[in-house]
Amino acid sequence: MRAQGETVIGLSAGQPDYDTGDAIKAAGIAAIRHGKTKYTAVDGTLSLKQAIAAKMKRDNRLEYQADEIIVSCGAKHSIYNLCQALFEKGEEAIIPCPFWVSYPEIVKMAGGAPVICSAGREQNYKITARQLAAAITDKTRLLILNSPNNPTGAVYSKDELAELAQVLLEHPQLAILSDDIYEHLLFTDTPYANILNVCPQLADRTIIINGVSKAYAMTGWRIGYACAPAYVVAAMKKIQSQSTSNPSSISQAAAEFALTTPLDWVKEKRDLLKQRHDLANRLLNEIDGCSCLPAEGALYCFADFSEAISNKPSLQNDLVLAKHLLSEKKVSTIPGIAFGVANHLRVSFSCRSEHLQQGIAAIHEAIDEAS
Ligand code: PLP
Repeated sequence: MRAQGETVIGLSAGQPDYDTGDAIKAAGIAAIRHGKTKYTAVDGTLSLKQAIAAKMKRDNRLEYQADEIIVSCGAKHSIYNLCQALFEKGEEAIIPCPFWVSYPEIVKMAGGAPVICSAGREQNYKITARQLAAAITDKTRLLILNSPNNPTGAVYSKDELAELAQVLLEHPQLAILSDDIYEHLLFTDTPYANILNVCPQLADRTIIINGVSKAYAMTGWRIGYACAPAYVVAAMKKIQSQSTSNPSSISQAAAEFALTTPLDWVKEKRDLLKQRHDLANRLLNEIDGCSCLPAEGALYCFADFSEAISNKPSLQNDLVLAKHLLSEKKVSTIPGIAFGVANHLRVSFSCRSEHLQQGIAAIHEAIDEAS
């Protein structure tokens, strides 16, 4: 629609709307100038791995050696490599729902079977230990945790993680993927914790996934990484070696720079996102029949329009609503069904406040006008 000259208010972005910081860009340019333009080690340069190890110590209080780290072309690529390395045909991955759209597809591409574990609004979109225990079968191979979550912004507390860990300790055949990509876009005062912080005994089967995409606004640079036991990293490396080889040498140099600088810039951006979140959350909750829990992190409000949809038959469902908003109000959102939950919309607050205000006002108007 934009290419046809229409003005569309985008509330569907899955990435920061601001640019990579100038100092990081300069590090990328310097890498080109200094001839860092050749193949690197398949699993990333040693100096980047050292920067990742230092970051894991600084931010996560976790220790990793170089052979326990692999750098890939984005966090998604690390997740893909892990699943390719892990699954035998028909083995199951437990995926809490709502989920990031790519998890079930990546699991299926590796021959695995996604087992969707529903966590609705009434449980703050987080699965409980009891649900986890009930979902485990003798075919379960992986649990995928994502906190802060895309699309809900939900964050597991230490207590909640400890309860999940108790169940996991009883099932040694399960690996745990902790997708920490939104770690730094956290709006609460409680420091970030992943499952290894509460249960170090799971270290021999936990894979931490992270990257520079969201924290440093570097989505296009394509650098993500996994920290995992050396035997897992070795298997992932074999797959990466025969597919993409190393991620871009220039991006690796820029990521190394990003990870070794203090977090001031990241925190400044996080504060800006928090302000936008508060605005979006307030405006969405003012819409009749829309209810939206506050997000504790990430870039999204996950708004429940079930009541509006049941009150206004013409709206039918979230897919029809999202299409209607796009065609009639020129506002793009993502229907909840993409994340496994009907009658919700994911509204990204990764845009200027004026756009947020205009876009949500247009959604408000569309709901009021609907019959
Ligand atoms: N994990 C989650 C939960 C995401 O939302 C995304 C991107 O949207 C990714 C991973 C992928 O990140 P990357 O750009 O590093 O591949």
